[in-house]
This record gives sequence, C-alpha cells and structure tokens, in this order.
Amino acid sequence: MAIVSMHDMLRKAKEEKYAVGQYNMNSFQWVQAILQAAQDEQAPVIVAASDRLVDYLGGFKIIAAGVSALVEELEITVPVALHLDHGNSVARCKQAIDAGFSSVMIDGSHSPLAENIRMTKEVVEYARNFGVSVEAEVGTVGGNEDGLIGGISYADPDECLQLVNETGIDALAAALGSVHGPYKGEPVLGFKEMEHISRITNVPLVLHGGSGIPLHQIQKSIELGHAKINVNTECLQAWAQAVRQNLIQDAKVYDARTILAPGQAAIIATVKNKIQDFRTSRKAIKLEA
Ligand SMILES: [Zn+2]
Repeated sequence: MAIVSMHDMLRKAKEEKYAVGQYNMNSFQWVQAILQAAQDEQAPVIVAASDRLVDYLGGFKIIAAGVSALVEELEITVPVALHLDHGNSVARCKQAIDAGFSSVMIDGSHSPLAENIRMTKEVVEYARNFGVSVEAEVGTVGGNEDGLIGGISYADPDECLQLVNETGIDALAAALGSVHGPYKGEPVLGFKEMEHISRITNVPLVLHGGSGIPLHQIQKSIELGHAKINVNTECLQAWAQAVRQNLIQDAKVYDARTILAPGQAAIIATVKNKIQDFRTSRKAIKLEA
C-alpha cells in the first residue's frame, strides 16, 4: 500500500475509540522495525521524522524515498502515514510535503495564538493541494520539546476552538500535562479539559509524550477523544537497553549487525505492545472494508 495521509485513519480511530501510534524514526532500522510490527499486528501506523533529526537522517528526500521504498520492499499492506513531527516553520513543512511526506505537524505553539493560526493556515492551504494532513499544537508539552526545555502549559479550550475553526487542521495536539522524555512521578493529565476540547472542536486529538503514561490514563485519553499517540522515548529506551546488554555481555563483539540486531528486536516488541495498548490491532483490516 502506498503512503497515505492520516486524515482517514484518525477520523475512524476517533469514531471507534482507539488510537493510531506515531513512532519516531531514529534510523532506517527503526523504520523497518516499526513497519514490521504494524504489519504483524495488522494496524495502521504513523512513521514520523522529528524536524530536529531530519538532517541527521539524511534530509527530507532521503527519508521520503527510503520509507516509501521500505513499504514496497517489505510488502507492507497496512496504511502507513509518513509524518513530519514538530515542523519548525512553514518552509520546513513545505519542504517535507514537496519531498513526499503525507502528513506534517506545524508547531507554532511557542508563538502567540494569532501567529500560530497564521502559520498553520498557510501550511494547511499548501498541504490541501497534495492531500497531505496537518497537525497543529496549542499549549506547551513539558520536558524537552525540540530543544526548548520548559514547564507544562495547558492548552486553553477557546484557543483550541479558534485555531481549529480558522485553519481546518486534521488533528490537534492540545497540551494537557504530558511530557517529552521520561516522567518524574505519575503524569497528571487534564481529563476535564480534554473532554471539553474534544467535544467543542470535534477534531482527533494527539497525545505527545505518550511514553511512560500508565495504561489506565492512556485508555481514558482515548475514550476522551485522542486518536493519535506519539511514542519515541520508550522505543529509544528499549533499544538502548538491548544494545547495551549485548555490548556488556560480549566485550569483543565488533560486527555492527550483531551489535544492533537485539535493538531492532526490542523496537518491534515495544511497538507491538503499544499497538495492543492503543487497541489498534487488526484495525487495518476494517479500515480497508
Ligand atoms: Zn511532541
């Protein structure tokens, strides 16, 4: 199956109360692992490149061509969206779209609302020409957000409604207490605000910082309108642990494939677990029906 936008998969997920996982790539091995897990689980999936990693990964064109080729080579039949995570500017989002990304996030959350809306609108207008979906953010996710380390600032429901109405985005990241990176103690998510924002905007919500949130809070977030959950830290931690253990066990190992293979297996296992937690297993079959 070709790369698709996330519009239909998220609408359906919101309706049927499950969430499509977004898994960030940290190399092309990551992409293989994520695609394999999604195919095994028969789940729609979002592969993301974070804007701050794009150059490290080889640039927009390499990412788009590589992911699309892997979908073909691995004979992946489940719907796959290729998404730009935390797009830094309108120009970066346009570059991603031109290269073949099927979805972009424009992160104007660090600007005043009027500027955030202006940027988002410009990206939506451009994206529409290519059938590309757009995600925007209101409020601030805590932790390290693209190098900006800060506290959590909850999204204001009126601001969310205004942004959704004026821009026509496909998905909204409303910051409601989640954090990028590991949590210190149990997260405190604003469920009341979540329910309110989901009801008034009626747009699929996106939970950033989905790693390390207890399952009961994840499931409540899905019940209250989250249709997309972003996972990166947990895959990184599982990968690092497996590779570290491997290196410690065999001090003489030097073959790259031997060193990294357990890391890849750890990513597959983590993504499969998340797909099950988010109730997305076998949803690809229904999606095509
Ligand atoms: Zn994020």
